[in-house]
Amino acid sequence: MFNRVFIACGCLFVLSGCMYNDEPMPQITYDYKSSETVQPRLLTPTTSRPVSIGENILQDWLPPSSVEKKWTAIVIHHSGTKNGNTAIFDKWHRESNHWQGVGYDFVIGNGTNSSDGQVEVTYRWQKQVTGAHCGGTAGNWANKDGIGICLVGDFDRTQPTNAQMQSLVRLVRFLQNRYGIPKSRIYGHGTTPGAGTVTDCPGRNFPMGWLKSQVGP
Ligand SMILES: [Zn+2]
Repeated sequence: MFNRVFIACGCLFVLSGCMYNDEPMPQITYDYKSSETVQPRLLTPTTSRPVSIGENILQDWLPPSSVEKKWTAIVIHHSGTKNGNTAIFDKWHRESNHWQGVGYDFVIGNGTNSSDGQVEVTYRWQKQVTGAHCGGTAGNWANKDGIGICLVGDFDRTQPTNAQMQSLVRLVRFLQNRYGIPKSRIYGHGTTPGAGTVTDCPGRNFPMGWLKSQVGP
């Protein structure tokens, strides 16, 4: 039974590119008993430059200050594909999902259609608009307040490259520093509290434990 469900989910996953999500999302109220359900925190806006963490922070990770939002969580995805980059996902999400464009804020390449470990910044981050990567949460909080990072690859079958994970750690630490996001608010898509889609994204081989050991508290 589990296998059958899993295969069915996998098919859905392939068809939807792991981010089944209608845009715009309806307002859905969940009655969750789990203590894991956390409502978005309101944070004091950060106006200062990121604290140096001894690693390279790329200039384009900084959004325009005129539109910069408060972000309260990070949601990690895999593309569920062998290859890809922002342009490919952008075309796919426009044409197949009829979204306004690529659903993520950041895409980290695996050496296929962009460099291994290359961090691409999408228009969603540049414009600081609501994402389309993790549907079904109460009030659509994960798309509104959560930063969507997609690693190119299918981590049910393979693992992320070392360069991808190094870039991810660097990016996550930057985002944690800038927005005061605690480690407890870094989620995989499928384990995001209230996520409305059954998915194992970012894949069963994604090393979430290792990631949490490398980032800020
Ligand atoms: Zn996903």
